Amino acid sequence: MTSLLISEPTQIVSPQPDVLRGPGLAAPTVRQGESILIEDGVITAIAPLAELAGRAGAIGATVVDAAGRAVIPGLIDAHSHLVFAGNRVDDFARRCAGASYAEIAAGGGGIGLTVAATRRAGRSELKDLARERLETALRHGTTTMEVKSGYGLDLKTEMKMLEVIAELNDEQPADLVATFLGAHAVPSGMARADYLREVKGMLPDVASLARFCDIFCETGYFTPAEAIDLLAIARGHGLLPRMHANQFTACGCIAAAIELGAVSVDHLEVLEFDEIAALAATDIACVTLPGVSLFLEIPFAPARAMIDAGCIPVIASDFNPGSNPCQSLQLAQSLACLRMGLAVGEALTAVTVTAAHALRLDKVGCLEPGWQADLLLLDCPDYREMLYKYGHNHVRTVIKKGRIV
Ligand SMILES: [Zn+2]
Repeated sequence: MTSLLISEPTQIVSPQPDVLRGPGLAAPTVRQGESILIEDGVITAIAPLAELAGRAGAIGATVVDAAGRAVIPGLIDAHSHLVFAGNRVDDFARRCAGASYAEIAAGGGGIGLTVAATRRAGRSELKDLARERLETALRHGTTTMEVKSGYGLDLKTEMKMLEVIAELNDEQPADLVATFLGAHAVPSGMARADYLREVKGMLPDVASLARFCDIFCETGYFTPAEAIDLLAIARGHGLLPRMHANQFTACGCIAAAIELGAVSVDHLEVLEFDEIAALAATDIACVTLPGVSLFLEIPFAPARAMIDAGCIPVIASDFNPGSNPCQSLQLAQSLACLRMGLAVGEALTAVTVTAAHALRLDKVGCLEPGWQADLLLLDCPDYREMLYKYGHNHVRTVIKKGRIV
């Protein structure tokens, strides 16, 4: 049995366990003068040190001196595209030099570049690339991450990506949750209807390797009707539906997601007032991706209005080579505060408790007895400094399932 005693941090900050919407999002519990006892990967007690010392000594708990540190839950990234080969730095440099999106695409950039590189890469090469990125994410406090396929656009490469996710999940400390995103784009030279038929044909093979099925529902990509059709079939194979929705246009994806009973809608940069009201009446997680808005210079999702209306807000990275190469959920939270109007407590809740809801995970994302011991020791005594001093990594120690990693 492994046990840890996190001794006398300045703050133990935990979002409220079952609060997914409303004013409670902004009011995490902040305990001072207490310590945390962890046994077998689970938090067993939070109390003043004097009350825990006897038990900790009896079980031989390793003492972690947390003086001067705030402690928060490990962060949960509910939307990422971690697995891919190549990068799009040339696209970035050309954009900075004034090239338009269309010019970049015409020059051979864009998602086609990543699909070609990912198809070419061997499985071990692809896994090494993803592992290195995952280590960066973990150092920045991400202890659980959703990871999508979607750079294969053929069965062989989609399977290769999902197998890499499954192997990495077993080989390193962070928990990975896989999503099949065959309907990310239409491969060049193929008709959309033909490709969608092919994606449906992949479902029996990918079902055992993924928890969710996703689709890029957007004007010029896949339609709401196609999303309903594909995701309903995917559900028959045990894959829960989620959708890339309303990134550039309000094209009816929200109504489709509600009809499907989707687990989440992700992006939401362009959202109508009545769509916000409709989402607030559901338990669909509303996943916003502020890093994408910063990087692509597009509007930020109206997260303030969503929260005020009663939606379930989540902040995720959307880490990917084209529209957000930044894995830090610390920076994503700062952007949520600075550009989407979230309170600091709301931002923390949106990368922990509500993010766990978006991934259908239990007992992860809070610091309470009985919850999984995923936690971070910060370099600051007040957790709010993590978002205030943006652009730095404030995580000093990462503990995953009760082990220092
Ligand atoms: Zn995405």
